[in-house]
Amino acid sequence: MVHLSKIPVRTKVRRPAPAPPSVQQEVIDELDDATGSVYGTRFAATDLPAHEMPEGQMPKDVAYRLISDELSLDGNPKLNLASFVTTYMEEEAERLMTECLAKNFIDYEEYPQCAAIQTKCVSIIGNLFHASEGASIGTSTVGSSEAIMLAVLALKRRWREKRQAAGKPYDKPNIVFSAAVQVCWEKAARYFDVEEKLVYCRKDRYVIDPEETVNLCDENTIGICAILGTTYTGEYEDVKAVNDLLVKRNMDVPIHVDAASGGFVTPFVVPELEWDFRCEKVVSINVSGHKYGLVYPGVGWVVWRAPEHLPQDLVFNINYLGAEQASFTLNFSKGASQVIGQYYQLIRLGKKGYRAIMTNLTRTADYLSDCLEKQDFVIMSQRAGKGLPLVAFRFKEDEDRGFDEFTLARTLRSRGWVVPAYTMAPKTENLKMLRVVVREDFSREKCELLLQDIALCIRLLETMDKEQLARHEKFIQTHVTAHGRGGPGHEKYKNEKHSLQGKTGKTHAIC
Ligand SMILES: *Cc1c(COP(=O)(O)O)cnc(C)c1O
Repeated sequence: MVHLSKIPVRTKVRRPAPAPPSVQQEVIDELDDATGSVYGTRFAATDLPAHEMPEGQMPKDVAYRLISDELSLDGNPKLNLASFVTTYMEEEAERLMTECLAKNFIDYEEYPQCAAIQTKCVSIIGNLFHASEGASIGTSTVGSSEAIMLAVLALKRRWREKRQAAGKPYDKPNIVFSAAVQVCWEKAARYFDVEEKLVYCRKDRYVIDPEETVNLCDENTIGICAILGTTYTGEYEDVKAVNDLLVKRNMDVPIHVDAASGGFVTPFVVPELEWDFRCEKVVSINVSGHKYGLVYPGVGWVVWRAPEHLPQDLVFNINYLGAEQASFTLNFSKGASQVIGQYYQLIRLGKKGYRAIMTNLTRTADYLSDCLEKQDFVIMSQRAGKGLPLVAFRFKEDEDRGFDEFTLARTLRSRGWVVPAYTMAPKTENLKMLRVVVREDFSREKCELLLQDIALCIRLLETMDKEQLARHEKFIQTHVTAHGRGGPGHEKYKNEKHSLQGKTGKTHAIC
């Protein structure tokens, strides 16, 4: 999640140390011209500007090198097993995307082919979800969060129109979803003033119970969200069961499917699973192009079953030199590269390519699950394609261990791996868990190395007494993870109390 950055108090800017008497300052100044070596310039001997824009310029190679050096302290994306977001694309894709960096996607008149390519992507993705030809509509977004915001706006507006037409009050909209939702659902509900009705998980069930979900709906329910692959355990919620219950009870409540991760997995791994527009109550679906869609961040997609589910008064017609284009987005301008990158992946890999990759990932996840089970962990995620290719696991309970999942996660940092630990959704008795997302670039070989390192770290932790453990953890927390370097955020925004994280201790998972 991007920080809300604060403008800090200016600390004393460190000046470069005086040059030793044997070196004349002119020598250094002279080197600052275009022919100087980066590390011989005065810029290399002082702090980079952090408060105010500098008065003077800096040679471009110096700026490049110094910023690149600073970034080298970031983690290695390939060892980041916390994220679903793509960390590998082919060079050809990168080249195409670089070529489009200067194009503003909204400028349909100037870049009509980019717009045409988006339409092709919407069509291809919509077809994967069994959208209805000639009726379904969709758009690209910055990610699933924007897609979900748009979908919630459409649900709310449609519900309001219905209530208005019936002469009924429309001031108390609510939405039903799992307490294990991604944080963007909490944002959408709060930003657009829709009351949340939560379906809680239990210690032995990490997805919504269809019956309970439908029972929570009333005349003010704008819709139900079902998650195709929860961020915690990757399990697919039973969209079909919710759909069938609504049909059976003749209830006019629409379903939105949050297929951020699963949307590009299930069509290839379990095509027979009915969760999409094959279910008549499903009116809209979002998917992240930058997760299993295999594109660098940020691109997402949202598709509506038919125009009747997207009220016209939310859509604006952008007029460019006489050409009218309907637009439904939160932001106006954005780069075109991601949409182009998505189109590359879709046509380059085809169904066969996606199927091959997703099948490999599913196998690797199954293998990792089996091995971790042998190392005495409890596996909380599904196997054999019944959930996303990820492994959620935890220690067995009731064992006297001086450390927990969070300690193991921190210790793995010392081997370069980022494996996050979470506290599960509320009402699961504060279950803690670790999660490894199996992404395209997580090969079987890397899987073996990770398993060895998990065993190594546990052996280390087992030899430590409580005090050593505490010191060790503190060191890693302050010096190895980002918390130590980022500096404190703004006082006002600390300790949020309004979200599920603030209220229950559930961790907003990284995606
Ligand atoms: C990742 C994720 C989101 C948010 O998607 P972004 O593309 O990161 O904005 C929403 N819901 C689920 C289930 C996710 O996994």
